[in-house]
Amino acid sequence: AEAKARDRSVQAFTDEARRRAARRVELERELRDAAENEQFELFLQPKFESASRRLSGAEALIRWRHPQRGLVSPAEFIPVLEETGLIVDVGAWVRRRGLEISRRWRDMGIAGLRIAVNVSVQELRQQNFVAGCTELLAPAGGDHDLDFEITESMLMDDIHQNIGVLQALRDLGSRIAIDDFGTGYSSLNYLSRLPADSLKIDRSFVALLAQSPDTVSLVTNIVNLAHSLGLRVVAEGVEDEEQAKLLRLLRCDEVQGFLLGRPLPLEDFERSFLA
Ligand code: C2E
Ligand code: MG
Ligand code: MG
Ligand code: MG
Repeated sequence: AEAKARDRSVQAFTDEARRRAARRVELERELRDAAENEQFELFLQPKFESASRRLSGAEALIRWRHPQRGLVSPAEFIPVLEETGLIVDVGAWVRRRGLEISRRWRDMGIAGLRIAVNVSVQELRQQNFVAGCTELLAPAGGDHDLDFEITESMLMDDIHQNIGVLQALRDLGSRIAIDDFGTGYSSLNYLSRLPADSLKIDRSFVALLAQSPDTVSLVTNIVNLAHSLGLRVVAEGVEDEEQAKLLRLLRCDEVQGFLLGRPLPLEDFERSFLA
């Protein structure tokens, strides 16, 4: 009886593994499809100057409008895009679309509102990543509003190569933000050499700010470090006024989070923040 029970649980295990593998194959197929059928969309989340609460820019965050499942979050599909290499085409689309939106805002007469798109390290590593960005941005001769966010934890592998790529993006007139800062292991040595314009404090720290004196000193140190390196500091995931107030006191330059605005489809963003 024991052996039988064991067989049954082994069977259940392999059934589950098989189901998971099948779901994954299906997901990959659907993502290829999504890339071809324009099921991706950029949502926009506002960023504000911490002291004045003036709108300073927007972060573009990809969404997938799945025909049956509705909106799917990037946490679910970005890793699959990265593993399959589909991120290369989708990333190129994100940059084109981001630039298009920023041009639309210029045409509406809104000056100086920048858009930051997120880039995966898998994209940075592509042989022709810089060439693609150059093709997109060089015609503007540096006069455009497209910026980039790159997650800290990924940057440090292959740091020398990445420094070159980030410098090339800056030479094209884009600003660089180091995203989710504090979750990686940047050495001070490399941080000072990174061609970057700002650090985005990861929202796990912002969430602890109001309860934890240790987090307050940590954030204080990050802000001081950033400022001493000539970098601006953006806090992400700001959800309540107490956090916003603390961040202002700690001289954090910009804030972003549900308190001030959720990521929204373009039309809703414009209605809420550009009207
Ligand atoms: P991220 O770049 O760090 O983006 C911030 C994430 O925090 C977004 O999640 C945003 O919706 C969420 N967020 C903003 N404010 C708050 C808040 O107050 N509270 C909470 N709990 N969350 C907040 P989202 O849109 O699900 O994106 C997740 C991640 O997916 C992004 O993290 C980024 O790493 C990646 N991602 C998104 N769009 C793209 C893209 O176009 N390309 C690439 N390569 N990655 C992307
Ligand atoms: Mg980001
Ligand atoms: Mg982030
Ligand atoms: Mg993140």
